[in-house]
Amino acid sequence: MSQNIIKELTEIVGDKGILTGNDVSQRMDGWIGAPACKAIAIIRPASTEELSAVMKLCHQHDQSVTTHGGLTGLVGGGITRSTDIVVSLERMRNISHVDTQNRTLTTEAGVTLQAVQEAADDNGLFYPVDLGARGSATIGGNIATNAGGNRVLRYGMTRESILGLEAVLADGTIISSMSGVIKNNTGYNLPHLFIGSEGTLGIVTRAVLRLRPKLQGEATALVAVEKFEHLSRLLNMAEASLGGSLSSFEVMWDNFYSLVTGFERHSAPLPVGSPFYVIIETQGNSNELEQERLENVLGEALDLQLITDAVVTQSVSEREKVWAIRDDIEALFSLAPLHAFDISLPVTVMEEYLTTLQTELDQKWPDNRCIVFGHLGDGNLHIIIGQVSAEEKKQVEEIVYRNVHPYGGSISAEHGIGYEKKPYLQYSRSKEEIALMKLIKQAIDPKNLLNPGKMFD
Ligand SMILES: Cc1cc2nc3c(=O)[nH]c(=O)nc-3n(C[C@H](O)[C@H](O)[C@H](O)COP(=O)(O)OP(=O)(O)OC[C@H]3O[C@@H](n4cnc5c(N)ncnc54)[C@H](O)[C@@H]3O)c2cc1C
Repeated sequence: MSQNIIKELTEIVGDKGILTGNDVSQRMDGWIGAPACKAIAIIRPASTEELSAVMKLCHQHDQSVTTHGGLTGLVGGGITRSTDIVVSLERMRNISHVDTQNRTLTTEAGVTLQAVQEAADDNGLFYPVDLGARGSATIGGNIATNAGGNRVLRYGMTRESILGLEAVLADGTIISSMSGVIKNNTGYNLPHLFIGSEGTLGIVTRAVLRLRPKLQGEATALVAVEKFEHLSRLLNMAEASLGGSLSSFEVMWDNFYSLVTGFERHSAPLPVGSPFYVIIETQGNSNELEQERLENVLGEALDLQLITDAVVTQSVSEREKVWAIRDDIEALFSLAPLHAFDISLPVTVMEEYLTTLQTELDQKWPDNRCIVFGHLGDGNLHIIIGQVSAEEKKQVEEIVYRNVHPYGGSISAEHGIGYEKKPYLQYSRSKEEIALMKLIKQAIDPKNLLNPGKMFD
């Protein structure tokens, strides 16, 4: 049967639109460390209509499909089986329109996040979603995972930047909800159904993105903080004093800061030894104004002893050096074998959660290295547990995720569930919620063809 379907698929997408054999197995199913692609073929449609015809055929043949964007997802959402075909959006990379009056950008889903940011910038506007994998991650992937990143505090997750969307369903139906208006209360919000659905409900082909005015000024500071309780007071003070212009509040625990600044490629702007370090960034109309406002906040925080030390960057290169510390994920590989987590918790219980976690880890693996950093303004922690063998992955995961539940947190803040977190979904979602999710999946994709085995069984 698979040979028949390949012939028919080739007739739809042409020779350029299909890869088989070594061209498939030499590709990966995800980011660094992901397994090789096992699929029968990779289909690369050039348009929504081609994809619709592909899905109609797959539906007829009960053929399962996994969608690949930029393959930077971190929860195994792109993993394939030998019976799947892959749909890759790599030939759908056209930004069709930037509307400077209505501040919207219309794009195909295979366009990278960075290309969208640059197109907005070229037109004097700003696309606020930003994350380290911007050069490879696609808009389709961002939408499918509802990606977060560094500016959620001010602009929200990807969901908040999507005005309209087009998707192809498992049976080939094209759902085109490409409205460019912010207010559109006309029944169920269909674009939102696909945002964060991780390719299980439809394949996103196009979107209308909301752009923002480009801000001309920013100011960045790195501060040292002595006590955890001071972090949330400092955040509240910064939000109140800087109004809507606070754009980042990124916390690094001492173990993260000292590890990363220990590498020669960085110099430490503040001495190591403080329990916490925070990058605070504000964006507004002029550098001078933002700097003055930020310095006022820091002065007040020093008076109240909420911070013990601070450095405000004075140039673009100083700012980049501070962010390079926060973004140096590669430095963490020095702790291999390691396990990485992305969870969220109410700020009020974070410290207690981390103490419980460390106690349980120490009991089992006395030599473990538990490194913490994150988007504290969004309640989002990234936890790296190093020097614990790969074979013990399940046990580490169980400790991290089981403890999230009683504190009212989420086992996935921004990366999704995919394949990796599927066994733990019940720690963040009730039986009734999971049943409703399955009902929605059953209604839209009754043959379970789209990304089967991801999110839930
Ligand atoms: C260095 C690094 C930093 C990162 N930082 C962040 C961060 O700060 N915040 C954050 O949220 N994430 C982050 N990520 C994770 C990742 O970049 C995001 O999840 C991103 O949105 C994935 O986009 P992608 O195009 O690579 O999708 P892929 O990895 O290709 O796919 C991810 C999932 O979406 C599905 N999918 C892809 N395209 C489509 C489509 N067109 N239609 C339907 N389903 C689709 C796939 O089937 C899969 O389930 C980071 C990753 C790396 C490697």
